[in-house]
Amino acid sequence: MVNVRERLAHVQQQVIDRNPGESEFHQAVAEVLGCLGPVLERYPQYSEYKIIERICEPERQVIFRVPWEDDRGEIQINRGFRVQYNSALGPYKGGLRFHPSVYLGIVKFLGFEQVFKNALTGMPIGGGKGGADFDPKGKSDAEVMRFCQSFMTELYRYLGEYIDVPAGDIGVGGREIGFLFGQYKRLSGKYESGVLTGKNPAWGGALVRRESTGYGAVFFVDEMLRARDQSLEGKTCVVSGAGNVAIYTIEKTHQLGGKVVACSDSGGVVYDPEGIDLELVKRLKEVERRRIKDYVDYRRTAVFREEGNIWDIPCQVAIPAATQNELDAADARRLVAHGCLAVGEGANMPTTPAGIRVFEEAGVAFGPGKATNAGGVATSALEMQQNACRDSWTFQYTETRLREIMTGVHQRCWDTAAEFGHPGNYVVGANIAGFVRVAEAMLAFGLV
Ligand code: NDP
Repeated sequence: MVNVRERLAHVQQQVIDRNPGESEFHQAVAEVLGCLGPVLERYPQYSEYKIIERICEPERQVIFRVPWEDDRGEIQINRGFRVQYNSALGPYKGGLRFHPSVYLGIVKFLGFEQVFKNALTGMPIGGGKGGADFDPKGKSDAEVMRFCQSFMTELYRYLGEYIDVPAGDIGVGGREIGFLFGQYKRLSGKYESGVLTGKNPAWGGALVRRESTGYGAVFFVDEMLRARDQSLEGKTCVVSGAGNVAIYTIEKTHQLGGKVVACSDSGGVVYDPEGIDLELVKRLKEVERRRIKDYVDYRRTAVFREEGNIWDIPCQVAIPAATQNELDAADARRLVAHGCLAVGEGANMPTTPAGIRVFEEAGVAFGPGKATNAGGVATSALEMQQNACRDSWTFQYTETRLREIMTGVHQRCWDTAAEFGHPGNYVVGANIAGFVRVAEAMLAFGLV
């Protein structure tokens, strides 16, 4: 009989062979499979029914042409994707990313992560992800609208509130969700609110959805600190990025008594020892769609470092909230040397595997993205609940639900890590707890 370790190595090799060149996908699979040895030993039925092999293969992948016309009347062609990864727990659920770096390997890695993240929330949602290699930066509103309309004209036939429910991600915010929903409504001829989440609260969106990924990440970090008899109060924090997740991570950190001294975008890093002026960041990024370097034009205390490395800045709490693989082993070593106590991944897979090892060896509390940033999709599920019963909840009630969900995610990771012999290891806890929930549903459904 093949032993468990050999079996997992074989599946990993199969994933590499069957998905050539998709390094981010290989990385995400390796992280999960690396935790599953003790699970297969305890539950031999998962091997018998090839649950791991099945979970590594998406249920459906769609790639499509997105033609659109720019403001000069020139025709542009982009490539759109939707990976409907796993529907064992509910309709496919996961965001759309518009960024030039998007290709099948990125969408597949994000979809794979999403399956376990969604399971960890305890809510009835499957996992999926999508996007396009389209760059909204520098495009006019009219161009973004034409792109979104063309994208949805192809995608709409694969969606539905009981089938697949996208939301935002990098490059897809409230403006894009509005254009996408408008086109879906026009094509389908029905007001199917629950087909997209992250909508404006004026027409079916949930209050707190915009804030939820960032707020949830801070709630999770707060739980990690509490588990060590610490709190965010008075802590110096660094948050990378200056998009949706970063902005609301900074907001909640400040509300809970921490001080965020740096944030960034792909052009560089802003360091403000007095604490980031969040209203200024919101105006620059959310309203005027400008670059973070403009921050220093308004704040004398701040400096801008073009292409600087945000992880050089000393802090006790670090929350990477920009993109994948933005924090490597050298960055992790610097953070440890500067006395960092906790790292929570606001983004998806922002820390490299070697970086994670540095944090683990140094005893830094490390929250992986599939746990730390699960508040976004959890609040999307709350938005679906409100849409289904034609209701709208208050900000305070929804935020309380989010806090409870994040406390639950933390507890599930904590208990599972301890149960499988790795107390305090949230990577192990998140991967096993998420996996087991999906695997049990797959077993119950038979070979489908
Ligand atoms: P946004 O597009 O709102 O913001 C992304 C931010 O990250 C921007 O400041 C952007 O800078 C920066 N960034 C993006 N790509 C790069 C890069 N290659 N190098 C450096 N900086 C980069 O996206 P979100 O805030 O929504 O998403 C951030 C992360 O959080 C992603 O990993 C996403 O998958 C994850 N996430 C998001 C959720 C959500 O609800 N939105 C839910 C769960 C996870 P610039 O503008 O210069 O490109």
